[in-house]
Order: sequence, then C-alpha cells, then structure tokens
Amino acid sequence: MLDPVMSGTAVGLDIGRTNVRAALVDRGGNVLKALREPTDPSGSREAVLGQAVRMAREVGEGASAVGAGVAGQCGSSGIVARGPDFWWEDVDLKAELEKGTGLRAVARNDVIMATVGEWRHGAGRGARDMVCVMVGTGIGGGAVVDGRLATGRSGYAGHFGHVLVDPSGPECSCGRRGCVEALAGGKRVAMRARMVMGSGDGRAAILRRMCGGDPERIDARMVARAAAEGDEACLELRDSMASALIRGTASIVNSFDPEVVVMGGPVLTGFPKLWEMVRDGLRDEVLPPLRPFENVKQAELGDLAGAIGAASLALNP
Ligand SMILES: [Zn+2]
Repeated sequence: MLDPVMSGTAVGLDIGRTNVRAALVDRGGNVLKALREPTDPSGSREAVLGQAVRMAREVGEGASAVGAGVAGQCGSSGIVARGPDFWWEDVDLKAELEKGTGLRAVARNDVIMATVGEWRHGAGRGARDMVCVMVGTGIGGGAVVDGRLATGRSGYAGHFGHVLVDPSGPECSCGRRGCVEALAGGKRVAMRARMVMGSGDGRAAILRRMCGGDPERIDARMVARAAAEGDEACLELRDSMASALIRGTASIVNSFDPEVVVMGGPVLTGFPKLWEMVRDGLRDEVLPPLRPFENVKQAELGDLAGAIGAASLALNP
C-alpha cells in the first residue's frame, strides 16, 4: 500500500491497448518519475488492472492521489463502460485503483486526461476556452469552457472523433458513416490503405513494397512512411485525412469559439505535412466572424500528456 500522506504529487496512469504509462507528477506538472510497459497482451481486466496498480506503486512513493486515463468510454463515475480498446464491461476503475493503491482516485477517458494535461501544463496553458483534438488510432478530444473542463451530464463530452463530415464516407467504429475518425483515425486509415492496395491500384506501389505484399502488415505508421516516400495512394489518403480534420475541427471551433485549438497525436504528426495542412486549412474554414482562425497549436506534452493530465486531475479535480 502507498502511504496516503498529504503531498504535492500524484500518480498519473495512461492505460492504452499498446502501452501502460505511469508517472509521478507534481503540482507544477513536472514529471518526477516515469515508467512505460507494453500492455499485458491478454488485455483482460484482471491482468491490466493488476499491471496498472503495480506500476502506480512503483512510481508512487509519497503521492497523495492517483488518476488514470483509459482508452475507452469512461465518464466522471470512473466506471469504464467499454472499449474501443478494451472490451471490459462496467469495470469500476476508480474503485479498483483506490483498493489497489490505498489512494484517492479519479478515472476518465484517456484523451480527456490529455486535454487536462495540455490545458494546465502544455500548449493550452492559461486559456479559458480551449478545445483539444488528438489523432491517434482513434480520434478523441476535450473542451475547456469558461475555465472549466466541460464534462456534460455524464462525463462523455468531447467525443470529437464522431463529428460527422461525410455521410457517404467510410464506416466508423460507432456504426455510422463518415465521422472524422472514420476518415482520419489511424486504425481506419490503415484499413482504407489495405483496401486500396488490395484493389490492385498501381498508385500504391511503394506501400506494396513496404509491406511485402501482405496487407496484414499495414498500419498507420507504414501508410505515413509510404506517403513520405511519395506513394500516390497514401498521399491521397493523407489529403482526405486533412480535409476531414479541417472540416471536423472547424465545426468544433464554430461550436465552442475557443481561444486556442490544441492538436496532437502520433497520426497527426506522423504523416508528412498533415499538421501544417490542417493548421493552415482551418484558417478560413471557420465561420466568417471567427476568421482568420490562427490560434492552432501543436500539443506539447507528447506521450505523457495523458499521464500528466490524470495526475493533475487527481490533485485538483
Ligand atoms: Zn463515429
């Protein structure tokens, strides 16, 4: 058990399908210790929760609270309803962490935690109104309105990946068609690249060479690499990602009128020129009174945004 002394530090956990990160973070958002491990391959609740608790204990000496962001639907109750990455049903993550560490706990969706991190300690520092859009395997987000994290009725506010930009577009993980995530999320982009290559399209020659003709080896990182080497099909996918992200983010800007938009995530920064295209494209895509919209910043906290935000929310809910 960790000693729940009153201190100025908390443990932040970021529980994803690929990695689990744990960090000891102080009130200034400084990371004093950090650990990263591949997520238990079973993905089972017992194994992953056990791993998260063990890692929290390893970094958490002196911490007064623990916060966790999880790649899934997790509202303010701290109960993980389900996936998309973990198909756990109704796991009370907050209670499990409290039991396992002996510390007060908070738990939310991972991108909500990253939003808190960027707002309090990263690119959105000092903003009263901010929206955050993170482009990874999926697309998530969060909003700060009038100096407070927007939660909505149940803590689910910020699912910006499901802003619909093209009703006749590809199918999304949510069951609808043409959400931003369906067009620009890493998992769906890899699926689309597999389809293009599978159709025998000659413009995907570089991608075909990279994966050795095996579509199963294609992931978003490979699509980005092929685009960087000039693969025409992958560059076309990149263009369609940019236009989806511009349209989707413009709708969010029109809805919230934020001071700053913080954008990040490995897929946004991994594709050649994608970040610049989105930043520049947003300028005149928003409603006329908001033009030119220029305050778009790249996220600053990188892979640790979620853990830093989780610790920060635990210290200061
Ligand atoms: Zn969707």
